[in-house]
Amino acid sequence: MTRHSTWIMTILLLCATASAAVAPIEIHVVVEDRAMLEALSSEVSITGFVNGIATVVCSPDQLVQLREQGLEVSIVERPKTTGITMCPSGWEDLGTPLWDCYPTYPQYEAMMHRLAESYPALCRLHDLGPTANLTKDHRLLALEISRNPDIDEAEPEVFLTSSMHGDETAGYVTMLRLAFDLVDRYGSDVLVTNLVDQTEIWINPLANPDGTYFGGDHTVRSAIRNFTNDAGHNSWVNPNRNFPDPRLGDHPHGNPWWPETVAMMDLAESRHFVLSANLHGGAELINYPWDTWCDRHPDDQWFFDLSLAWATAAQEDGPPGYLDDCRQPGCFGGACTPGVTNGADWYPIAGGRQDFMTYFHGGREVTVEISSTKLLPSEQLQTIWTANRRAILDFIGTAHHGIHGTVIDADTGRPLAARIEVIDLDTTEAQSSIGSDPAAGDFHRLLNPGIYDLRVSAMGRKTLRVMGVEVPENGTSPALEILLERTEAVEFPHMEYQQ
Ligand SMILES: [Zn+2]
Repeated sequence: MTRHSTWIMTILLLCATASAAVAPIEIHVVVEDRAMLEALSSEVSITGFVNGIATVVCSPDQLVQLREQGLEVSIVERPKTTGITMCPSGWEDLGTPLWDCYPTYPQYEAMMHRLAESYPALCRLHDLGPTANLTKDHRLLALEISRNPDIDEAEPEVFLTSSMHGDETAGYVTMLRLAFDLVDRYGSDVLVTNLVDQTEIWINPLANPDGTYFGGDHTVRSAIRNFTNDAGHNSWVNPNRNFPDPRLGDHPHGNPWWPETVAMMDLAESRHFVLSANLHGGAELINYPWDTWCDRHPDDQWFFDLSLAWATAAQEDGPPGYLDDCRQPGCFGGACTPGVTNGADWYPIAGGRQDFMTYFHGGREVTVEISSTKLLPSEQLQTIWTANRRAILDFIGTAHHGIHGTVIDADTGRPLAARIEVIDLDTTEAQSSIGSDPAAGDFHRLLNPGIYDLRVSAMGRKTLRVMGVEVPENGTSPALEILLERTEAVEFPHMEYQQ
C-alpha cells in the first residue's frame, strides 16, 4: 500500500469521528514538573512554555479530556486579529512591490512562477506536490536559487521554509521577500551575488497553504495552525509533530504522515541539504536540536553559536527587545540566553522537523521563532524583514564555514557517495557524521574554527584518514580532494575469509 493510500484511509476514519467545523481553542495549563510537561507534550500541541505555564492549542474534545485529568486549565482570550491587509490586485506583477501586505493564494503562486520565469539563469520553481485539501488546488512550491540552477554543482545546499503552522505568517512573507531579494539584487549586492554564485538556496515560503488560507484563498485572517484533511476541515494534526522521530520512531503521535510531510521527506531524500531553517511564530528566539531528548548533539556548541549569531544580528537590526526571549533551560538548569534555546531545554516535542532533518539526513536544522504574534499585522512585516535580512544572509553563508571537499574514485575519477566522520566528535547515537553528495561528490562538514581529523569511507573503497585539517577563523578550509582506492577484499570477499 502506498503512503498516500494509507493516509487516505486513515483520514476517512478520522473524519468519521471528528467534529470538523469546531474552532481551535488556546489554553494555558499549569505544569508542575518536567514529567508533566513531557506527558502533556505527548498528548496535545504545546505552542509555548514560560514560568510553569504551557500554552496549548487544542480541540474542544481535547480540552474536555485535559479537564477530566484534573489539570488546571484556563482559556486564553485573545483580542480579535486586526491589522491584516491583503495585497491589492496586480501586486504580484509590480517591479518593486511593497511588502506590507499578505498576498492572496493566487498572488503567491503567481509571484513564485514569475520569479522563476523572470530570472531563468538564477531560479527554478519546483512543485513538491499537492496539499491534503482535495477541495483546493494548493501546491507546495519551492524556488531553487543559484547560478546554474540546472547543474548539480559542488556547492552546499541550504533550505529555508516557513509557516508549516499555517497561522504563523510572518515568516511566509519574509521568505517570499527573501527569494525576491536574492534574484533582484543579484549582480548589484556583493553578498547576495556571492551567496547565489556559491550556494544552492532552496526556499519554500509556505509549507502549509491549507492552514494559512483556511478561510479562503483571498484572506489569511482565518488561518489555522494544523493541516487540514482532504475535505478542507481542521485535521488537528500538528505539522511539526508529524515527522519520524529519533526517539519514538516513524509515527510518534500515531498519525499517518500527511501529504505535506511526505513531500518534505521526499525532498530531503532527493536533495542534500547541509543546513536548513524552519520559520515559525509565537515566540522570538532560535531553537536548535534536539527537541525530542535532553542529550546534546555533538555539534551543540556549533548549533548554539549559529543560533546566537542569528539572534544577535536580529537584535541589532530590529527594534528594542526583538528576538531576545529568554527560556529557562529545563534539562540541566543554568541561565537562559536571550534569543537562543535548545529545543528540549524549552519543552520537549516528538516528530518535529529539525530533529528529522538533523538525525535522519545528517543535516543541521534550526527552528526560528520569528515573531511573538503569530498572525502578524501586515504593517509589521517590514520590521521583521529589516531585523532578519542580515541574519538570514549570514545564516546561508554559514554553509561555507567548515571543511569542504570532494570524494572521488581514484580509478575512475567519478564522484563517490562517501561518509565523512570527524574523529573524536561524531557519534553513532547522534548520527552526526555526514555523507558526500553523490551527484558531484562534494561534502560540507560545517564546523567552528579548529583543527580536525577526518575518517572518509565508502562502499568497496579503502577507508582514508585525513589528519589535521584546519578550519581557520575566517571559517572556510581549503577544498580537499579525497581519492579513495578500491579494496580487493570487497571485490573478492571469499579470498579474505578462506584461511
Ligand atoms: Zn510553529
